[in-house]
Amino acid sequence: MVNYLLMITADLENLTNLQPQGGCDDPSFTYYFKMKCGNCGELTQKETCVSLNETVPAAKGKGNIHLAQKCKFCSRDGTVTMMTGRGRPLTQAQAESGTYAPLMLFDFRGFEPEEFLFGSGWKAESTGGTNFTDIDLSGGDFAEYDEEGQCPVMISNLRAMFKVVK
Ligand SMILES: [Zn+2]
Repeated sequence: MVNYLLMITADLENLTNLQPQGGCDDPSFTYYFKMKCGNCGELTQKETCVSLNETVPAAKGKGNIHLAQKCKFCSRDGTVTMMTGRGRPLTQAQAESGTYAPLMLFDFRGFEPEEFLFGSGWKAESTGGTNFTDIDLSGGDFAEYDEEGQCPVMISNLRAMFKVVK
């Protein structure tokens, strides 16, 4: 079985512990991505979104999955299941060295992930001790001023990858 671990990194200026607002297993955090059919290679036209609190019953077997979708081109069925407990906040030290932090583990069946798209609902802590919440990264970056720590805070150069985990 092949799973995909979504990993992220970014440039963090005076910020650390970038993660979904409710922590790495935030039930309402939405993941947006593009995926490709494992059968015919067709890329999904629209971005796909999943979150932990939205599940559908699995057609076969037990448990819940997070997405069931048919390829529009070849009609092959595919599913996406999220697995909690693997995410870690992205620290400033990791960001500085260009290291990726794991965010969420996915089981893709019938599809392969192609590209993760950063959305909203992130949080981070400034090195001055202020918590920033409701961070929207859909525009590609974030810039604010930390009044308490008296320093500018910034998130930029967002990067994401899906690492194959066997
Ligand atoms: Zn297909």
